[in-house]
Amino acid sequence: MTQSFDVIIAGGGMVGATLACALSGHGMRIALVEPVRNEQRAEPGYDDRAIALAWGTSRIFAGLGLWDALSAHATPIHRIHVSDRGHAGMVHMDRESEGLPAIGYVVPAHAIGQVLADAVSRLDDVTQLCPATVTGLSAGQQHAQVMIRQDDGELQVQAVLVVAADGAGSRLREQAGIRSQRRDYRQTAIVTNITPQLPHNHSAWERFTDTGPLALLPMSQGRCGVVWTVASDQAERVMALSDDEFLAQLQERFGNRLGQLQRVGVRQAWPLQLLSATQSVAPRLALIGNAIHTLHPIAGQGFNLGARDVAALAEVLVDALRGGQDPGAAPVLARYADWRARDHRNVTIFTDGLARLFTLSLPGLGILRSAGMLAFDLFPPAKRMLTRLTMGRSGRTPRLARGLPL
Ligand SMILES: Cc1cc2nc3c(=O)[nH]c(=O)nc-3n(C[C@H](O)[C@H](O)[C@H](O)COP(=O)(O)OP(=O)(O)OC[C@H]3O[C@@H](n4cnc5c(N)ncnc54)[C@H](O)[C@@H]3O)c2cc1C
Repeated sequence: MTQSFDVIIAGGGMVGATLACALSGHGMRIALVEPVRNEQRAEPGYDDRAIALAWGTSRIFAGLGLWDALSAHATPIHRIHVSDRGHAGMVHMDRESEGLPAIGYVVPAHAIGQVLADAVSRLDDVTQLCPATVTGLSAGQQHAQVMIRQDDGELQVQAVLVVAADGAGSRLREQAGIRSQRRDYRQTAIVTNITPQLPHNHSAWERFTDTGPLALLPMSQGRCGVVWTVASDQAERVMALSDDEFLAQLQERFGNRLGQLQRVGVRQAWPLQLLSATQSVAPRLALIGNAIHTLHPIAGQGFNLGARDVAALAEVLVDALRGGQDPGAAPVLARYADWRARDHRNVTIFTDGLARLFTLSLPGLGILRSAGMLAFDLFPPAKRMLTRLTMGRSGRTPRLARGLPL
C-alpha cells in the first residue's frame, strides 16, 4: 500500500532538517528521507568544521525555537576584515555600524547537525526514513509519487509536495528535468582548525592571496576555523605537508595579526564548483539549499542562502494552508520561486564575482583591487549594502528571518 504524506523532504542535511522543523506543527504530515545516519556524520572534537551563520540565519533559528540550543555552541563575529595580501586596501565591517550584538556567529557543523537531529526526533508529525534514498519521482495532477530505497527493499510514497534538499548532485532535480549551470572552479578548499598565539577577539578575516582566498573564523577555545582555497592541482601537495610546514605556509599568507599560528587539526579537502539550477520549482516539486545553488565558500553564504529558502518556502506553504489552498499547487510554488529568485541571483553573482576577481592575476589588477577596496571602505552606502547582504538582511525578509514564528 502507498503511504501518504503532505510533504516529503528528500535530504536530511542541514537545510532539509531545518525545513522539517519549520513545517512541523502546522497540520501537515511530513516525511524526511536521508541515506546517512546522524551518528555517521559526526565531526566532533578539535576538528569540527566551522560554519559562519549570518545574523539573519540566527534569527531563523530563533523563530524555530532552536537558537537557545545553538547559541550555546556559537562564537559571535563582531567584525570582518577583508584584505588583499601584498596590497594596501582593506574593508572593515563591524556590528556597531549595524547596531546589532553580532554580524553573525560561527557554529560547528556538528553542533548544528546535533541540535537539528534532536529537534526532529521530538516532532510527532515528522516521520524519519533513514537510512533511505529517494530513487524516483513522478508528478501527477494531485500528488507526486516517490520511490524510496531502504535496506529491506523499495517503498512507494506519495505527497502533495516533494522538496528536493538532496544537495548539489540532486537526483530529484535531474528527474524533474531541471537544468543547471555548472562551473568547476578548479580550486579546492582546504578546511581545518588552528589555534593562534593571540586571541581572535571575535574577528573574522578574509584575505586574498596569490594562491586563492583564505578565511579565518573565530571559534570557541581560542580556535580559528580555516578555509584556504588553493588551485586544485596544488591541493594534494598542501594536504601532504607536515603540520609544521602547513602552519608556516599559512602564516606566510595570513601574516602576524594573530601572532604565531600554533596548533593545527586534521585537514579536509573540498573541490569547489558553482552550480545554479535554472528553476527552483517544477510540478509538485520545490528545490532548496545546495540542490538549487552550490556556491564558492569564499563568503560563507551557502547554508545561509539555504536557510532563507527554508524560511520563505515554509511561509508560503503555511500561508497557503491557512488560505485553504493546496500547498503543492503551481501558483503556490510560483510564489516561492519568485520570492527567492533575486536573493539567489544576488548572492551567486556576489560570491562568484569575488572568487573570480581575487583569483585572477592580471598585471595591475592588484592595484585596482586595492584602490577599489579603499574606495569601498570610504563609501558608506556601498559598504552598508555589502554588510546587509553578508548578514542575510537584504530583500524581503521572511517572518522566520525576523525571529518571528510562522
Ligand atoms: C569548505 C566549505 C565551507 C563552507 N562554509 C560555509 C559557511 O561558513 N557558511 C555557510 O552558510 N555555508 C558554508 N558552506 C556551504 C554549506 O556547507 C552548504 O551550503 C550546506 O551544507 C548545504 O546544505 P544542504 O542540506 O542543502 O546540502 P547537503 O549538505 O549536501 O545535504 C544534502 C543531503 O541530502 C542527502 N541526499 C543525497 N541524495 C539523496 C537522495 N537521493 N535521497 C535522499 N537524500 C539524499 C545527503 O545524504 C545529504 O544529507 C561551506 C561549504 C564548503 C564546501
